[in-house]
Amino acid sequence: MTLKPILILAVVALATGCGASKPELAADTIYTGGDIVTVDDAHPSAEAIAVKDGKILAVGGRSSIESAYVGSRTTVVDLGGKTLLPAFLDPHSHYFSSLTVANQVNVYAPPAGPGKDIAGIVAALKQFRDERRIPKGVLIQAYGYDENAMPNGVGLSRDDLDLDFAGNPVMVGHVSMHGAVLNSAAMKRYGISAETKTPPGGVILRKPGSNEPAGLVMETAYLPIFASLPKPNAEQEAEWSRAGQMLYAAAGITTAHEGATHAAELALMQRAAAAGAHVIDVVAYPFFTDFDAVLEKNPRSTWGRYVNGLKIGGAKITLDGSPQGKTAYFTTSYLTGGPGGEANWRGEPGFPEDEAKAFVKKVYDLGLPLNIHANGDAAIDMVLRAHEFAAAGDLAKQRHVTVIHSQFVRPDQLDKYAAYSITPSFYTEHTYYFGDTHILNRGREQADFISPMRAAIDKGLRPTNHTDFVVAPLDQMFVIWTAVNRISRGGMVIGADQRVTPLEALKAITLNAAYQYGEEESKGSLEPGKLANLVILDGNPLKVDPMAIKDIRVVETIKDGRTIYQAK
Ligand SMILES: [Zn+2]
Repeated sequence: MTLKPILILAVVALATGCGASKPELAADTIYTGGDIVTVDDAHPSAEAIAVKDGKILAVGGRSSIESAYVGSRTTVVDLGGKTLLPAFLDPHSHYFSSLTVANQVNVYAPPAGPGKDIAGIVAALKQFRDERRIPKGVLIQAYGYDENAMPNGVGLSRDDLDLDFAGNPVMVGHVSMHGAVLNSAAMKRYGISAETKTPPGGVILRKPGSNEPAGLVMETAYLPIFASLPKPNAEQEAEWSRAGQMLYAAAGITTAHEGATHAAELALMQRAAAAGAHVIDVVAYPFFTDFDAVLEKNPRSTWGRYVNGLKIGGAKITLDGSPQGKTAYFTTSYLTGGPGGEANWRGEPGFPEDEAKAFVKKVYDLGLPLNIHANGDAAIDMVLRAHEFAAAGDLAKQRHVTVIHSQFVRPDQLDKYAAYSITPSFYTEHTYYFGDTHILNRGREQADFISPMRAAIDKGLRPTNHTDFVVAPLDQMFVIWTAVNRISRGGMVIGADQRVTPLEALKAITLNAAYQYGEEESKGSLEPGKLANLVILDGNPLKVDPMAIKDIRVVETIKDGRTIYQAK
């Protein structure tokens, strides 16, 4: 900054039209020298932004901002050609998983990780063990393993892991979060052997021609293992929470989502928050199974506001499964049969309809926001009928109801979303990860209409878009990339007519997400008075070649005017 303070005072005095200087107008920080994307339709771009006391003071031209708001203690940050935007809000993920994931090995498939083959996964595990000097006998865990991304779909086995990890139990978590590959030491610890019977609804993969477990343990066979995994002690609760939040901060996210919170998890989150663990804001949605227990400990009056960075946002209910797992509930049959080869398989509701209706009514009557997981169109029909039952008398009232995923929503159902003030939170990353699978399972027409963001916007809705972390990595640029391009892993365009503009895709993880949370007064765009939650990127997603959006990196994340993450 070259302007002298004395000159600034004079300019401020002139600008305010009175003789006295107004030091309270001096900004703490001014950012300028790069593209500023405001996500404010009234003023889409700016040259400078002034921040004071954690809030946005002004947004506008460089000279007017500098002349009005530079004081003797103002830091002027030169963006050096980088792009500044409102920080991202995460409309749906599983924050609680991040507490453990922060202490695990990332083995996602490329581009998010090294899991392109067995050698890549083993190398990442060895590096983690050596870097952290993990002693013998201590469990090593990984996350994001996906055999579908590996050569010929041949997955990891216990033998692959035994070779280098005879001394440590190793568990490589499946990307579905419903299972893991265990080595022999882990099998010994968790009591899986040739004598172990496969429970109903479970999977214990066996070696060919033998009863010997091969490594992969899924579903009900995995649940007892999952339940006995190490949990943080009192000291670790805050430490793990902060580490998990830093994964979000590194992705440019300053408001994270906990998408199905159990009572014990919420209690832990509250303890960690009280211990000062929060780097970012987290919004928790207690799961229907634990809703009454949570409500008993947390009176209605305490919901909907942040306490130490944590907000109980509303309730969560799940009505079906996933389309790639063929557990999403449809009105028409899967073209490829059911998960067990069943003919005329449409999936099944995860919840009896009457119970779903009663739960929705209970939540509405309490005046709480509701998140409903529904993927198939039959599950979405259930959502709409439950709404018509629970909201009878005022169907259109804004209740902050969000249908999480809404992947196979029909056009007529989107019309009802609009009429009922229901927000779809889409999952356009499926066009990349599962686009080819959806074409096989559901046919071209339905696959092309998955997460139909274009149609939703054209019907006046304000859709959001999510990663469902840890199902997919925390990578908001990839979320935007999939909404803009809709290209499958196999290179197929999945529904070209449902592509949206980069700005529309950006809104889905900023302003629209703030709206989903009922926080659009304070978050989601760069406007005076809003919180100074900012992200700096090394490229402008609105200007680069749409195919290059996924290569943009987060450089810095700022929450309430303070830098919380800086790329190395
Ligand atoms: Zn989820």
